[in-house]
Amino acid sequence: MSEANPLAKYFRKPVLYVDLPSNGKWYPDGVLKYDVGTEVAVYSMTAMDEILLKSPDALLNGVAIVNLIKSCVPAISDPWQAPIIDIDKLLIAQRIASYGQKMDITVKCPKCNEANTYVADLSTLLGSFKTIDYSAPLMIGDISVWIKPVSYKTMTSLKVLSFNNENLIRSFDKESLTTEQQAFYDKLRESAINMSLMSMAASVERIKVGDLDVSDYDFIRDYLSNIDRDTFNTIKKFVEDNATVSQRIDEFDIVCSTEAKDDVPACGHQFKVPFSFDVSNFFVFGS
Ligand SMILES: [Zn+2]
Repeated sequence: MSEANPLAKYFRKPVLYVDLPSNGKWYPDGVLKYDVGTEVAVYSMTAMDEILLKSPDALLNGVAIVNLIKSCVPAISDPWQAPIIDIDKLLIAQRIASYGQKMDITVKCPKCNEANTYVADLSTLLGSFKTIDYSAPLMIGDISVWIKPVSYKTMTSLKVLSFNNENLIRSFDKESLTTEQQAFYDKLRESAINMSLMSMAASVERIKVGDLDVSDYDFIRDYLSNIDRDTFNTIKKFVEDNATVSQRIDEFDIVCSTEAKDDVPACGHQFKVPFSFDVSNFFVFGS
């Protein structure tokens, strides 16, 4: 098309604008261009986006999510490079832009066993995200360790690798392995350990000891595989704590709505339901 499409003015318009938990940090140059101030515009899904979200393969390898963000948040030109801490908020914003703020959650009451449908307000959830500040290092003696959020690409690759690896490990019948199979099995176990090391190394931005200042990924991975387990576990905990810093409401309070019937009084039981963010059922599909 050489001319501007005269229908362009009828294309999707932004539905909402959100800021990012990363504050725009950790994006390579040119990947993020804010639409207004420090906010990105969020558009509703197209029919094509919805189709890709129904593909289990595209969901597992991250292609569905990357495609979705590209389509609905054009401010981010390459979502693979986005820091992982921004992804959930963007997905919730896209859910709101496409289907509105309310989301039905059906859960069984642990007391009376009846199904309850609760309407969750996603805008409250969206507002509960906080910026994570990675500027303070972890101090272990005279060693300072700075960490960073991994990119969506890194996280997805590691997830796919370990998913395949675990499937292979599970496929072995450990009771009856030949020597050859045992060797292969051991290799698989070893690569599982390597993957968790890779994931840790990718989360470390920089290590400083005295005049030494190292940010090279290979050096850091090497370092992590050669330190004592106490130091390793201290760094691991620091990485994990910061990766899971509660950026959002992770539980909903529910009051059971089962009404009185015959001799049984109304239930009224109060319980908490974890908000599980499973993309495969997070997006309801329009009929
Ligand atoms: Zn109940």
